[in-house]
This record gives sequence, structure tokens and C-alpha cells, in this order.
Amino acid sequence: MKCSKCRREAIIYQRYSGMHLCRDHFTDSVESRVKREIRKHHWVERGDTIGVALSGGKDSTSLLHFLIKTFGHRPDITILAITIDEGIAGYRDLSEMEDIIKRYKVPWHTASFAEEYDITLDGIVEGQGDDRRSCSFCGVLRRRVVNRIAREAGCTKLAFGFNLDDEAQSVMMNVLRGDTERLTMQQRENPGMIPRIRPFAVIPEREVALYAHLHVGSLADHGCPYAHNALRGDVRRLLNEYTWQHPATKYAVRTLGEDLKGRGTGPAIIPEICPECGEPAFGTCQTCAVLNEVRRGKIR
Ligand SMILES: [Zn+2]
Ligand SMILES: [Zn+2]
Repeated sequence: MKCSKCRREAIIYQRYSGMHLCRDHFTDSVESRVKREIRKHHWVERGDTIGVALSGGKDSTSLLHFLIKTFGHRPDITILAITIDEGIAGYRDLSEMEDIIKRYKVPWHTASFAEEYDITLDGIVEGQGDDRRSCSFCGVLRRRVVNRIAREAGCTKLAFGFNLDDEAQSVMMNVLRGDTERLTMQQRENPGMIPRIRPFAVIPEREVALYAHLHVGSLADHGCPYAHNALRGDVRRLLNEYTWQHPATKYAVRTLGEDLKGRGTGPAIIPEICPECGEPAFGTCQTCAVLNEVRRGKIR
């Protein structure tokens, strides 16, 4: 197959655009969509310090590559990487990321659940006796430490590598749970919380994987041993099957999610500082609630 734009050998067929693209035109296609999304939301501004939440997987490493390529030459923009070690034996290994950090020459800030909370995710699962809620515990605990590290490093934006599939799945999961509150919640502002950006949210997973393969090389991508959220797995299959017949579906679901945001009519929740941990929170501090619960389980 030849590229629809230049007649060189194509490496991908985009069903939703009907185009075959060569290596260069595919790269352009990804990067121009990401740049458009960044401009649309004013996600990167003069003077920004962008902290990239780097897990070492294809999404976050590709995002770091893209941000360095696009903004790395700008003297007014600083890019750094932040990695959290959740304490999962055989899964999170920070030494695997040293090559990435060396290659992109970015400052690297790291933290661990062990230092931050005196707890590991393995310990939490052991204390709970199962891993049914490990993803939600982990998400809450990770969110706070990433935010604290970013704030202390002077970040004005926190960048996450979520792709279009992740975004569409999250919207669809809220739909299937009938969770109106989450669908219509506004991303609230709290002075201690660094604004979060998701530049790859418009790029399908398989295209991020191809972009990573072309530009960052092979990555150790062993999945988290505790990640087997049944609903997310079902929704992933459902969206992938449906998209085969209707190629624009994931974009449509994400657009729906974006349009619903901020339409809730519940009472506004006032940003506060948690009296227990001193970090920004809305109402009850989720981090402290999780810590209190898992510490009761006798851990570590
Ligand atoms: Zn081409
Ligand atoms: Zn707290």
C-alpha cells in the first residue's frame, strides 16, 4: 500500500480518515492533532514548567518525546519528569527508566509510596486480603504524591499520557454505571493542585503504540499485576468491536464526555486544605480516607 499523501510505502491505515500513511506523514498526523488540542485548551503557555508523569510505558514516554521535540527548544518552557514507585515487586523498576531520562536529558523527580506513606501497594493488597480495590487506592495515593512533587518542583502543568482509548473507556464506564455526578463534574481548581493536561487524549491507543515504536524504541511494557478491572476490560472490548464498524466511535464518546463536564447542578464544593495531611482537598480528603482504611489492615 502507498501513502495517500506521497506515494511512499504506507505503514498504517487510518480507518476513520480513510488514509494510508507513510512513516513521516503518520508522525505529522499524530503531532499536528496533539498540537491542535494543546492550542485549543491553552495547555502550554509562555513560562510553563511541565511535569510529565512518567511510568516508562509507551504512552508517557511518547508524550515526553513529543513535548521535548515540540517545546524543548523554547527557553521559556521547562520540561521535567516525575515517577512514582508504588511498591509493586517485579512491576515498577525505576532503573529501567534511567535510559529514557539520559536520552531526553530532563530533570527527574521520583518518590515512592514507601517514603511518602510508609506503605507499599503490595502491602496494601496483602493487608486487604485481595486486590479488588487496589486500582482505586493506588490512584488516590498516586494523585497526591504526584501533585506534591510537581508543586515542589515548581510545575505549572502536570502532563499525563492518557490516550483516546483510555478517555473513551472512562466516559463509557461512567455511562454504564449511571454515574451522572462523575460525568457532569467540573474539573475544579484548588490553588495547591497543579492543572492537569492530557495532550494524547485525541490519539487512539494503536497510533500511540506505533508512534512509540517509531520514535522511542522498545519499552519494557509489563502490565501491572493488579490491573484487571473487569468493567474496563469489558468496555475496552465493546468499544473496539463497535469501532470496527463505526470508526469514529471513540472520538464521539470522548466528545460526549467533554461536553458533559461542568454541567452538574450539585452544590459547588469549596477547595480546602486537609487538616490531617496539609494537602489540598475538596471536602473529605480522599488520601487520608484511603490511608486510614488501609492502615487498619496492618501492612507493609
Ligand atoms: Zn507519505
Ligand atoms: Zn489529608
